[in-house]
Amino acid sequence: KQYPSLSKVLVLVSVSGAGLVAYSDSSSPHVTQAASEGDRKKKKVVVLGTGWAGTSFLKNIDASQYDVQVVSPRNYFAFTPLLPSVTCGTVEARSIVEPIRNIIKKKNGEIRFLEAECFKIDPTSKKVHCRSTQETDFEGKEEFIVDYDYLVVAMGARSNTFNTPGVVENCHFLKEIEDAQNIRRSVIDCFERANLPCLSDEERKKNLHFVVVGGGPTGVEFAAELNDFIEEDLGRLYPNVKDMVQITLLEAGDHILSMFDKRITSFAEEKFQRDGINVKLGSMVVKVTDKDISTKERSNGQISSVPYGMVVWSTGIGTRPVVSEFMQQVGQGNRRVLATDEWMRVLGCNNIYALGDCATINQRKVTEDIAAIFSKADKDNSGTLTVKELKEVVNDICERYPQVELYLKNKGMKNIVDLLKAGGGNGADELDIEKFKTILSQVDTQMKILPATAQVASQEGEYLANCFNRMEECEKNPEGPLRMRGSGRHKFHPFRYKHLGQFAPLGGEQAAAQLPGDWVSIGHSTQWLWYSVYASKQVSWRTRMLVVTDWTRRFIFGRDSSRI
Ligand code: FAD
Repeated sequence: KQYPSLSKVLVLVSVSGAGLVAYSDSSSPHVTQAASEGDRKKKKVVVLGTGWAGTSFLKNIDASQYDVQVVSPRNYFAFTPLLPSVTCGTVEARSIVEPIRNIIKKKNGEIRFLEAECFKIDPTSKKVHCRSTQETDFEGKEEFIVDYDYLVVAMGARSNTFNTPGVVENCHFLKEIEDAQNIRRSVIDCFERANLPCLSDEERKKNLHFVVVGGGPTGVEFAAELNDFIEEDLGRLYPNVKDMVQITLLEAGDHILSMFDKRITSFAEEKFQRDGINVKLGSMVVKVTDKDISTKERSNGQISSVPYGMVVWSTGIGTRPVVSEFMQQVGQGNRRVLATDEWMRVLGCNNIYALGDCATINQRKVTEDIAAIFSKADKDNSGTLTVKELKEVVNDICERYPQVELYLKNKGMKNIVDLLKAGGGNGADELDIEKFKTILSQVDTQMKILPATAQVASQEGEYLANCFNRMEECEKNPEGPLRMRGSGRHKFHPFRYKHLGQFAPLGGEQAAAQLPGDWVSIGHSTQWLWYSVYASKQVSWRTRMLVVTDWTRRFIFGRDSSRI
């Protein structure tokens, strides 16, 4: 579990020439921008992506030690948790973005940024192939190559449509800033269209039917925001069509917000019912045309279609094509998500790291931990394991891998997991060890064991940057304080996720929060907690001020309904 030696890296640097290389018509690419002499001696780190993971890495890396280059089609960092607020103008798009150049210029050392997308990673020759996203005519020069010694892949994920016909063509996604801006325009369009004199009442109702697909945190928050927008602002401005508005939330599972505590799920479902939001559970979307959306009921297989004015699709994430292709190259073609070890190193290749939504820590570690439970459980059957010991193992697993805990809960193991986690059960009689073992043996081996959240991505980015910052010191002092944990001689602790809790804003100035230790808080005071946490988490004082000003503006003047 050690990083490669510095001497190896230096050889690679001198071979590669540490240059930025561009495609030309001739077969040999030419160097267009050489690194400075000083940089040439430094190891070259290329970061793909300026989202939560990439930006956290950049904020924490000691840029004086490395020659760092960032490649991303976005020249800004976006604070995604506030994207649903942008869809209704509660906050403005520019208030939640920070130019990446503002972030990197504060670093001790130069970090270079290239606005382009990577379309191919070549791990054999240690190069990434990039393409400018500008629409200008580059006369065939829009593609170029960047070589690296270390590559940090932090490209995030794309929206997952599950190949449902018509989704890409007819639905809005809520992933990027542009998506939120498009949704905002589209909502106003629907109201303006419905207000035209030439429409029948039926056509008005169709235009004012807003469908949200996916009852996860994003879909729920968007439905709540939209409902507030209509209740507090649009209803006053379009009084003659207000009563024709309908918001429908479609969820294929049994409940919305299923990853939250049951108390939050029930509160959200009841609140939405009171607010008049039509929550349809067990309803799977099978097709979307430009006029209607078709669903299949899980209970009876019945298919029905309803006309809509706008659909927002929010059903989770999938792997980007460039990452899928890379996975094929490194022997991970049979996986759903790019796998890394607990030091963020991509399995099957050297010097490539992956963070955030585009990657998952290999479940092998979980399997090992589960095997530990098995062996302890076996011992328990022979009477040598104490319930306390078993509880310690489960507690450790659930703390480190919240998704595994969720999985166990969903498999009906909630009571046992809770009992084990609480550490105060009534003794071995209550532990259904056999059932526990059976379910653990079925744990999805492809499961993304950490949630796809900003929290995970930014902690991973910070962790990896700290490893990079200490790499040279560890090379110089190989006999230094290496022993960190367990029995192995690791230079660095493996990454350990620290879950800080999760919010679900539910509209009407109410929110729910699930904090560590299964502590649940719901209501108006939680909404104020949400305001303070999200204000404090902003990446800069500039965006913090803009966001707080937007919230204040909204309290005083309401949201802006102009279609610009
Ligand atoms: P991203 O933040 O998506 O960043 C990916 C980066 O890669 C971007 O800069 C992108 O431009 C770049 N990129 C893409 N393609 C390429 C390419 N080909 N070459 C180079 N660069 C590329 N999480 C929470 O913890 N709390 C929340 O409240 C929360 N709310 C959310 C609300 C919404 C609406 C959404 C969409 C997500 C929310 N999340 C939340 C999840 C969170 O945003 C993601 O988990 C997080 O953004 C993942 O970070 P990342 O760096 O992996 O990816």
